[in-house]
Amino acid sequence: AEDALRQAQKMEAVGQLTGGLAHDFNNLLTGIVGSLDLLHRRAAQGRYGDMDRYIAAARGAADRAAALTHRLLAFSRQQTLDPRPTDLNALVHGMADLLRRAIGPHITLEVDTPDALWTTLCDPHQLENALLNLCINARDAMPRSGRLSVATANSRMDAAEAKARDMVPGPYVALRVADTGTGMAPEVIARAFEPFFTTKPQGQGTGLGLSMVYGFARQSGGQVRIDSTPGRGTTVTIYLPRCEGEAEIDPGGHRLAAPLTA
Ligand code: ADP
Repeated sequence: AEDALRQAQKMEAVGQLTGGLAHDFNNLLTGIVGSLDLLHRRAAQGRYGDMDRYIAAARGAADRAAALTHRLLAFSRQQTLDPRPTDLNALVHGMADLLRRAIGPHITLEVDTPDALWTTLCDPHQLENALLNLCINARDAMPRSGRLSVATANSRMDAAEAKARDMVPGPYVALRVADTGTGMAPEVIARAFEPFFTTKPQGQGTGLGLSMVYGFARQSGGQVRIDSTPGRGTTVTIYLPRCEGEAEIDPGGHRLAAPLTA
């Protein structure tokens, strides 16, 4: 669970890094567009004098932009998933203290994890990050006070519902994070999974939280759903596929997996 806090801090750093890269990339594009405009004007005037210089400048900037995107791609490929049979209830309970600290004393945390929850197949560390991200969003939506509920449930997706959600029909485990906060307007919901989309003041939001949650869920064969009413609150549900059999005990003794004494 402490890992998750470190991950959250790393996420902030990632946000700054990618924000910085995007800024550099944009500067390079501005240089390229400027050189092309100049070339265009000179060509129109029939002045072919030092065209080579501008072409070389544009070419150099394009090369540097390509190097930047390669760096970004190499970085994002590092975030590979390591799916394991995971006990979601154990994971949620393992995170409860950390979540309480993350949301602060003005928000009440309710944890509801019914017995007989199916085992799910996903990367438990990425799931911890996702849960922490959702709870931090919920906290930000409840500046004064409120209730944060984290609940798990078995969920069977029939053909019609699965089709509507672009999922495979079958058994899933649902992780629901509900708050009594500001809620989200439909146009915010529509863009919420976009990387870098944020409504938070500059320096406070990276706009990466929900896009990472979405990427994780989709890569895991699951889905994310947002239900929100402005002025009332938001519920975000992550669906993850069920995995037959017992949750694994992490070789590192990580407490995400099912406890030995169950
Ligand atoms: P960030 O939190 O850095 O802004 P996210 O991708 O996590 O980035 O969220 C994108 C936007 O979605 C937020 O800026 C906010 O407007 C909205 N949002 C996310 N979660 C909630 C929530 N629980 N309540 C209200 N709005 C939310």
